[in-house]
Amino acid sequence: SIQEELSSHTAGVTLRSVTKQYGSFTAVEDINLEIPAGSYTCLLGPSGCGKTTTLRMIAGHEEITRGDLFIGDRRVNDLPPAQRNTSMMFQSYALFPHKTVWQNIDFGLRMKNVPKEERTRRVAEILEVVGLIKFADRKPNQLSGGQQQRVALARALVTRPQVLLLDEPLSALDENLRVRTRTELRRLQKEFGMTFIQVTHGQDEAFALSDQIVVMDHGRIDQIGTPDQIFNTPASRFVARFVGDNNIFVGKVASVAAAHTGAIIELEVDRLGTFLCRGQAADVGMTAACCVRSDCMTLWPYPPSNPSAPNQLTARVVAIEFTGYVTRVSLLAEATGEEIVYKIRTHDWLTQAANEGQLVTLSWDTENCIFLPH
Ligand code: ATP
Repeated sequence: SIQEELSSHTAGVTLRSVTKQYGSFTAVEDINLEIPAGSYTCLLGPSGCGKTTTLRMIAGHEEITRGDLFIGDRRVNDLPPAQRNTSMMFQSYALFPHKTVWQNIDFGLRMKNVPKEERTRRVAEILEVVGLIKFADRKPNQLSGGQQQRVALARALVTRPQVLLLDEPLSALDENLRVRTRTELRRLQKEFGMTFIQVTHGQDEAFALSDQIVVMDHGRIDQIGTPDQIFNTPASRFVARFVGDNNIFVGKVASVAAAHTGAIIELEVDRLGTFLCRGQAADVGMTAACCVRSDCMTLWPYPPSNPSAPNQLTARVVAIEFTGYVTRVSLLAEATGEEIVYKIRTHDWLTQAANEGQLVTLSWDTENCIFLPH
């Protein structure tokens, strides 16, 4: 079956010290990345961070300035795109508007001079897998957005690539359809057991799809991890800011104590107090930061019962927003004026509501205070 064919020859991708320069501008700098065969990896980051350039280097549409790129154990730096066994899936509008669904999918096989009988078999088979065999004779504009997306996927997979590269494939879809389509993409990727590498600037999308997320900033990799690792233990201020509603505090390391996993790091935050953080290692005296997720705090009345306890601060409520399941409370730290975000299930907010203008105490557990070395 096509599932067996795809999963049996899919491959991993390895980037070793890969750099891309456009003239004197470095778009991607010294990237090291291991993408396991059969995994779903998302390259995540803000506009201009170098994620598309990285994808295009893997595809062969962009030359690599320095470093080595492997697909499986084959070094492919010098191979043209057509010989790399990758396939690129774009947004659905990249379909040929005047060709039928069948012709759109058949096109790639014709280009590869696959004999007619074989083509017929393969196109029918992939249309069956994506559930579009009934629509083979339609033109793209006679299909819904989600169906067009599936045609684009079928067209990318019919040539039996070892790796599928996806460039913001869902960004043209409306919210509802995007969520449904990504669930389907993930399901098909698992069914094929194939390597998918996707570019996205949406953290929700990356969380929902990925085995592995690669967070990029200014041409460099800031963190590689599972969605859980990226969300719960961001490695830098940039990642903490990019992937969640995190409260970030900058301070100086006052002490470091070994803990059963990693270290407990004491951060002295000017005018706000002493914050104990969970981390790996730090040097006493260094400037660093910590983050506390907005849904990992507890709100208490003011004044605090123990004013000298660590991991707490006094803040004034400035806005309360109902957003559905969650109520989002904006506050200003009384000592510094910096903005703090506190999120709570709306259901729980009803039992502890504070009013706008009121002073409150916010506290949190050391477990939920993550040390950020840079
Ligand atoms: P977006 O989400 O906006 O597509 P991105 O993270 O994919 O952003 P890239 O497209 O990889 O970013 O671009 C990285 C940097 O390289 C950007 O600053 C961009 O302006 C620059 N760049 C990309 N292509 C070229 C080019 N052909 N010549 C010069 N600079 C380029």
